[in-house]
Amino acid sequence: MSACQHRWEMTSIQFGFVVFEKCFHCNGLGTYFTAEDNPILGDKYRDGDCFWSRVENAQSFRFDLECIKCGHLEKFDDLMGLMHCTGCLPDCEVEIQQAGLEAERTWILVAFGFLHKDQRKLISQYKLDILTDYFNQRRDTSRSRMKIISFDLIKDLSMCRGDFIHDVGMLSPEPPTERKPLF
Ligand SMILES: [Zn+2]
Ligand SMILES: [Zn+2]
Ligand SMILES: [Zn+2]
Repeated sequence: MSACQHRWEMTSIQFGFVVFEKCFHCNGLGTYFTAEDNPILGDKYRDGDCFWSRVENAQSFRFDLECIKCGHLEKFDDLMGLMHCTGCLPDCEVEIQQAGLEAERTWILVAFGFLHKDQRKLISQYKLDILTDYFNQRRDTSRSRMKIISFDLIKDLSMCRGDFIHDVGMLSPEPPTERKPLF
């Protein structure tokens, strides 16, 4: 194990869209990331018994993190994007955690992994902790902190009205003013 107190920088930043797709055969929900300029909604393709159709796009970006001190590279292939998800649903676990952390001025961001036929590909706690470190290294933590949690805490993704963060400048902890359903 390295003794380095890693100091993370974003690298390999890729802007694009999270595409939500739905299968009208098995009713499954899937996601993928595309760097296309403007993914077309309604686009369909067949995969075995499944007929996937694009139902929603959300602007997002992906990145890896690299330590500027020791050069260690942590790949985030499994990260589809980061999302503000607070107050969408009264009993949402994300909202419950946020309410509990508010007194400590800690703000939550949700790390979104990929979905395939409703199966969620989870991001490891190890990687969530690295993301949390990254964001806290960039702010005055005596004023406020960030905590990155897994999208697994959102029970019903189809009910979530979270906002994907689509550029680095949006990483302020202020809640978004406008909410619309994800898909
Ligand atoms: Zn390091
Ligand atoms: Zn299907
Ligand atoms: Zn939500």
